[in-house]
Amino acid sequence: MSIDCPQVSVREGATGLPWSSPPSISGATLSSTTDSRSADDSVLVSVDPSSGEVIAEHRVDDADAVRAAVADARVAARTWAGMSFAERKRALQRWAAYLTGHADEFSALMHQENGKPLDDAFLELSLTVGHIDWAAKHAEKTLRTRTVRPGALMANFAASVEYRPLGVVGVIGPWNYPTYTPNGSIAYALAAGNTVVFKPSEYTTTIGNYYAESFSKANPELPQHILRTVNGYGATGAALVTAGVDKIAFTGSTATGKRIMAAAAETLTPILLECGGKDAAIVAADADVAAAARDIAWGAAANSGQTCVGIERVYVLASVRERFLDELRKNLAQVRAGSEPGAHYGPMTMPSQVAVVREHIEDALKHGGTALVGGPDSVRAPFIDPVVLVDVDEDSLAVQEETFGPTVTVRSVDSLDEAIALANGTRYGLASSVYSARHGVEIARQLRAGATSINSVIAFGAISALPFGGVGESGIGRIHGEEGLREFVRPHSIARQRFAIPGMALLALDRTPAAMAMARRAVRMLYGRAPRR
Ligand code: NAD
Repeated sequence: MSIDCPQVSVREGATGLPWSSPPSISGATLSSTTDSRSADDSVLVSVDPSSGEVIAEHRVDDADAVRAAVADARVAARTWAGMSFAERKRALQRWAAYLTGHADEFSALMHQENGKPLDDAFLELSLTVGHIDWAAKHAEKTLRTRTVRPGALMANFAASVEYRPLGVVGVIGPWNYPTYTPNGSIAYALAAGNTVVFKPSEYTTTIGNYYAESFSKANPELPQHILRTVNGYGATGAALVTAGVDKIAFTGSTATGKRIMAAAAETLTPILLECGGKDAAIVAADADVAAAARDIAWGAAANSGQTCVGIERVYVLASVRERFLDELRKNLAQVRAGSEPGAHYGPMTMPSQVAVVREHIEDALKHGGTALVGGPDSVRAPFIDPVVLVDVDEDSLAVQEETFGPTVTVRSVDSLDEAIALANGTRYGLASSVYSARHGVEIARQLRAGATSINSVIAFGAISALPFGGVGESGIGRIHGEEGLREFVRPHSIARQRFAIPGMALLALDRTPAAMAMARRAVRMLYGRAPRR
């Protein structure tokens, strides 16, 4: 069996993969080094984060190669943008079907290159194909031309709004959900009629290429480069930002998002930024405490805590604190990270994140916190077992900065107002959770976040119709849902004069006194009467 993707090849011998012969992804070879950065800057070495074993090597694309890729995508855009919504829908659904048909193989690759358990990989894939299908089915309804009323003074005009694709969209992705997160931009940009150049994370490049290449495999009759990748580190991403794309859709850290925004400002290239978070859960006095603890344990530890909308902080009402802590401890007591079948979650995908998590744990313990579950010894790189930190100072790193590890802080509060104020007290504003039998919506409305799950965690991310994105330093713009489709079009307003009214033209140099008298009368009639108080 072979996997053909641009710019990379994987040789036989990679452990854990279901293929018996080498999946070849054109352009590179497997070696035995465990270093993720090759000595040769032009080659990116992809490794299994659990074992350090090399999976593949990928050619790094420099600025010229990135510009060439954008030019290729612009050629493909002529065909893709010219197709009807129905034709694009069929192509996207064929792609979803291809990915679904190869779910086992793709999940195995995700398990190997990202480290997440096979079941988690499958669930990520299922959300990915769900979004492709939703975008395919809803693009026409959301983006078809709509007529608008011209207004009394322009009654001789017909007015409409058309939604045009932007052209070529550059998508830059992270490694934690290597298909689900970039797909939130890619599927919607494609459904809206754009072509896409995708720069996957340097930690999940093989996955990114498999995903992108599968579009062409599912649609061999279409031109190449409707969706294609460029591979490399940050420099390749930076080159994509300045390569003449019509929009950049970025998912990754806030620090990189700021750099991208600054670079894009040079050419006023529009941006969509999906950045970091420090999500809080509020557990009210009337919550189902056992359910809250069970969900929050998962929301904090799943994917090794490497989830932008993972639960990193909990504010629990004092009256239910002890019961909640007891339940949380019970839920996490047996949870272990590992790469073996049955492990609850995998390794830290990015080696450098291990030091960040350790620093946050140590800082929390120095600043008044106690460890209810785990502690500094839970860090056994590349794995980190769950850590629950109680009563940590609100100014500490573990409360204010994104930890991106399987840790969670818990603080008790005396009122819901205090819980809301503390939940809103970081520079981030990505998502949130609320547990309350009666006040869920009321609390959710006061949270400064792009999304809230009530009596659940992270549920909004699995509902394709709900827009996803943050406020503050969590980002700008929205993926998913109708808003996610509209991110990738430009409205084009059309005002068509249906007939002229002789002597009454207002938009004319030879405007007549009669026309102005009519305008004055009409304006007084339309807008001159204040509504009664
Ligand atoms: P990162 O910012 O280090 O890298 C993200 C991508 O940007 C990578 O492909 C990288 O090569 C590229 N890049 C790096 N420097 C660049 C530059 N100067 N110009 C252009 N591209 C550049 O982030 P990461 O470590 O891959 O991902 C983890 C972060 O992503 C976390 O902060 C997490 O919260 C965030 N995230 C957010 C969402 C969301 O939807 N809001 C989803 C997933 C992850």
